[in-house]
Amino acid sequence: MTWDRDISLKNPAEIAIMREAGRINATVHATIRELLKPGVSTADLDAAAEEVLKKHGAVSPFKGYGHPPFPNSITTSINNELVHGIPSPQRKLKEGDIISIDCGTFFEDYVADSAFTAGVGEISAKAQKLLDVTEQSLFVGIAQMRAGNRTGDISAAIQQFVESHGYHVTREYTGHGVGHTMHEGPQVPNYGKAGTGILLRAGMVIALEPMVLVGTHRTKVGPDKWTVVSADGSLTAHFEHSVAVTEGEPLLLTVL
Ligand code: MG
Ligand code: MG
Repeated sequence: MTWDRDISLKNPAEIAIMREAGRINATVHATIRELLKPGVSTADLDAAAEEVLKKHGAVSPFKGYGHPPFPNSITTSINNELVHGIPSPQRKLKEGDIISIDCGTFFEDYVADSAFTAGVGEISAKAQKLLDVTEQSLFVGIAQMRAGNRTGDISAAIQQFVESHGYHVTREYTGHGVGHTMHEGPQVPNYGKAGTGILLRAGMVIALEPMVLVGTHRTKVGPDKWTVVSADGSLTAHFEHSVAVTEGEPLLLTVL
């Protein structure tokens, strides 16, 4: 992947700005979590996100991204939709749904990127287990984000953890470096081999994002050219944090 040639190391001042961007992104998440109720539309969630970003002098790097240009500030992906769902006034949340919210913040020339999946009202035990395993897999990956490790150590840890619970990790979509733009190197897949890949160094910032599917690792892209769904219609979940590699513990940027 060409992304691996695009790795930038951030100095402490840059990481401090990215921490602010991450805090704004976490504020968007907290605002959306409060709104996850039956009857709320995914466009309502997008509007709420935009309001928070605007209040903090930030914008979303998602809006206008890619081809065709992504039309909104967040992605909203429900149940079998893994990532990149487009918000819509017609798409209303229902009791028992699980919804993944991915949001980016572009603030003072730096990007923060994070995602979570949560239930609407009461959800099934099966859905709750998927959310728990996916979120835990993110932290299993983050624990490997230490200077001197390699990207493959992160990938392998996530894959092993997810597969040990009988679930699948996506192959087509990966974690990535983040900085002035949303996608830089290194690319960090959710599957791989320990001891391989790019050497981690202090100052790297990586948006790590396990995307987990219950029935298959295979996905399809919907007719809107954005929404990615599980190939077999099974449930999916997605958690993401932007995290800095330091000389010591990994530093979570996308938290309050
Ligand atoms: Mg994201
Ligand atoms: Mg990302």
